[in-house]
Amino acid sequence: MDHSLLEQLKQIVGDGGYRDQTDVDPRNYNDWMGARAVAPVLLLRPGNTDQISQILKACHEAGQPIAPQGGMTGLVSAAAPLEGEIALCFDRMKQVLEVDPFTSTMTVEAGVELQTIQEKADEHGLLFPLDLGARGSCTIGGNLSTNAGGNRVIRYGMTRDLVVGVEAVLADGTIINGLHKLRKNNTGYDLKQLFIGSEGTLGIITRAVLKLSPKPNSQSVAFCGIENFDKVAQLLVHAQSTLGANLSAFEVLWRNTYQLIDEKVPHVNVPLATDYPFYVLIESMGTNNEKDADLFVESLGLASEQGLVADVVIADTDNKISSLWAVRDGAAEVMGIGYMHAYDVSLNIADMGYFGEEVEKRLRARWPDAVMGLFGHIGDGNVHIIINVGPDTKSLHLEIDEIIYQLIRELDGSVSAEHGIGMMKKQFLPYSKSEAEIALMKALKQAMDPDGILNPGRIF
Ligand code: FAD
Ligand code: ZN
Repeated sequence: MDHSLLEQLKQIVGDGGYRDQTDVDPRNYNDWMGARAVAPVLLLRPGNTDQISQILKACHEAGQPIAPQGGMTGLVSAAAPLEGEIALCFDRMKQVLEVDPFTSTMTVEAGVELQTIQEKADEHGLLFPLDLGARGSCTIGGNLSTNAGGNRVIRYGMTRDLVVGVEAVLADGTIINGLHKLRKNNTGYDLKQLFIGSEGTLGIITRAVLKLSPKPNSQSVAFCGIENFDKVAQLLVHAQSTLGANLSAFEVLWRNTYQLIDEKVPHVNVPLATDYPFYVLIESMGTNNEKDADLFVESLGLASEQGLVADVVIADTDNKISSLWAVRDGAAEVMGIGYMHAYDVSLNIADMGYFGEEVEKRLRARWPDAVMGLFGHIGDGNVHIIINVGPDTKSLHLEIDEIIYQLIRELDGSVSAEHGIGMMKKQFLPYSKSEAEIALMKALKQAMDPDGILNPGRIF
C-alpha cells in the first residue's frame, strides 16, 4: 500500500472525511449477500464533486482501485470492497438541492436515501415513483448505478426513465456536467445512460436531476385468484386496456409463494383460499378520485364475467390496501426455512407459464425437497425465485444458478431483470449478452477507465 497516496487522499477530504481501515464500520464492507467482508484500506467520505474529482485523479495516477458504495443494499455483491480497495461513500452528500415545480424535477446529491426523495416530492404535491423494499437505506446514487426497478415500473419505468440529468466523475477525475433539466436533448450520445445501470464501473455519479410526476389522489387494489397462467396473461391485457394509464402495478404470486407466505410470514393474513394456481395483485392510481374507483370495480367485474378471475377481493380503504400489499411484500419475508437464495430473471410473458413449471421440474430433479417460490412484476416480464435446497444452499448457489440460467438462456431471457451482474452473476453474463455485445461493453470500459480502477472485477 502506497502511504503517500493515503495521506494525499486524507488531505483532499480533510478531517472527518475519512476512516482508517481499523475504524471502518462493518456496514461499509459487510455484503448483503454475505459473500465477503473485507475492510477497505481507507474509507473516504467526500463532501462534494470537486473532492471526488481530486480523489479519482490521484487514484488514477497511482492505479489504486476504488469501490463506490451507496446504502449497500445491492443484491449482487458489487459495492462491498475487495482486498486492497479504497471505499468511497456518500454519507456526507445527502442534500436535496432543489425541487422545481415548473419543470417537475428534483436535484439531489448522490447520497440521498430514496425514502427522503419520496417524502420531499410528496411535500410538494408531487410523486417520485421509484419504490422498493430497501427505500429507507438505498441511495439515489445506488439506484441510478443499478438502474433499480421495483413495483411501479409498469406505469413509470425503471430508474433510467426517471432521470433527466446526471453529473458524474470519470476515472481520471474529469467532471462530466450533465446536470440540466432538459427533457428533450438530442445532441448526440445520451451520455448519462453510460453511468446508469453500469454498477459503478464507468464513473462515479455525484448529483442527479430527477423527473417527478403528478401525485395521484386515487388508489384501488384488488387481489385475485386465477386458474392458470393463460388467464393471468389475458388479465394483464384486460387490465391494460380497461384501466389505461391508471394501471400502476400488476404483481403475481405463484401458489408456492402464496402458501409460503400463509405458513411462514406470521404477520400476514392471506385474503383468499390457498389452492388457486396463481394470485394477482392489481393496482390502479389516478387523479380522478370518484371516477377511478368505479372504473376499477367495473374492470374487475368484467374480468370475473369473462372467467379470467376465479375469486377477487377489492380494497377501498388505506388499511385494506396496505394489508393486500403486505401479502405481496411477504414474498421477501419468508422465515424459518433458512437462507433463501433469490433470483430476478426476465422473460417474455408468453413463456412464463412454461418457465414456472419447467424450472420447478428441473430443480426438483436435483433437490426433490427444495422449498421454492415464484413471484414477480409480471407486467414487466420479471420473475423472482426464492429457493432453499437445504443447509448448504449458500455454497450450492452456482449449481442452482446453472439450472435456472440455462433455462433462461433457452428462452432468450435475461439473467438479471433488476439487480444487475456485480460479482454474483459474472459467469452467466454470456447467457444473456452476445460476444459482440460483451466486446462493446469492454471497449467502453477500456475507453472510460483504461487502468480499471473503478469497481474492478464487477460485471466482467
Ligand atoms: P449499493 O448496494 O451501495 O451499490 C450498488 C451498486 O452501485 C454498486 O455497484 C456500487 O458500487 C454502485 N454505486 C453506488 N453508489 C454509486 C455512485 N454514487 N456512483 C457510482 N456507483 C455507485 N432492486 C430493485 O431493482 N428492485 C427491487 O424491488 C429491489 N428490492 C429490494 C428489496 C430489499 C429488501 C433489498 C435489500 C434490496 C432490494 N433491491 C431491489 C436491490 C437494491 O436495493 C438496489 O439495487 C438499490 O438500487 C441499491 O442501492 P444502494 O444505495 O444500496 O447501492
Ligand atoms: Zn423486484
